[in-house]
Amino acid sequence: MERRELLGRIGTLNVWGASGQRAPHKPLLLLLGLGRLQRGEARLVPFGKIEAPLTRLLVRFGPPRKAQHPEYPFGRLCRDGLWEIPGDGVLPRTRSGDLHKGPLIRERVEGGFPGSIQRLLLGDRQLVGDVAQLLLQSHFPESLHDDIRDAVGLRAEWVVRDTQAAARDPNFRSLVLQAYERRCAVCDYDIRLGDELLGLEAAHIRWHAAGGPDRVNNGLALCGFHHKALDRGAWGLEPFERGFRILVSSDAHGQSQALRWLRDYHGARLRPPLRGPGVPLVEHVRWHRRQVFRPPPLTTA
Ligand SMILES: [Zn+2]
Repeated sequence: MERRELLGRIGTLNVWGASGQRAPHKPLLLLLGLGRLQRGEARLVPFGKIEAPLTRLLVRFGPPRKAQHPEYPFGRLCRDGLWEIPGDGVLPRTRSGDLHKGPLIRERVEGGFPGSIQRLLLGDRQLVGDVAQLLLQSHFPESLHDDIRDAVGLRAEWVVRDTQAAARDPNFRSLVLQAYERRCAVCDYDIRLGDELLGLEAAHIRWHAAGGPDRVNNGLALCGFHHKALDRGAWGLEPFERGFRILVSSDAHGQSQALRWLRDYHGARLRPPLRGPGVPLVEHVRWHRRQVFRPPPLTTA
């Protein structure tokens, strides 16, 4: 296994469903594996030991689901040549070829990077960073990268940030900010330092990493807080009187006044952009509602 081959396999991981469903299972297990490798932990880990942390990652960074299946990537990544379960042949599988959680735990089944990949990664610190960055960039919006790195225990100095993501479409940011009059579409935040905007961002409604286009009708001008909260699913949108209104997740909690900065907007109308063509497309809003928003919304509007 060589560097280029590994990055190729990582880059072509098949995780997106045809309907745009998010399935971040494989990237999250790989990132968890990279964190373990960085800490010098053993190559193979019993499924029972990785089940809880992987489930937590799926809850935090995956789409809302009634049940989580950390056993899926544990088995499926083997087919991508990126994971190994010694003695895999004897394990019972579902009709779709997935492993069952029960036997994985009972039999203390272990899995991990294949030996050749482990050796390659251990000998090349930069490669660990490149693989992590490729996984983050391909599957998650930039606003979540630090949180995910922290959650899997990847040390920041191993991950060289590159600016590719920001450079994707140089016009997206300025067009979106212009369309929303350089104010947060939720709270009107518009602080400047001198002539420069301070902390106002152009957010994608449907994540770029999930095929969302760099178009104004997939963008919102948001303050840093409302941007992050959108990408984590703390609030979302629903069509309302030829525009949209804001739904706040009942999962958002806090003890301080700051919570009002979220909850007070529940049921409020999203300020529309200046021009008609920039109005968010309902399909992007629906994608976010299904794949990112944390249900249920607050009940009082
Ligand atoms: Zn705001």
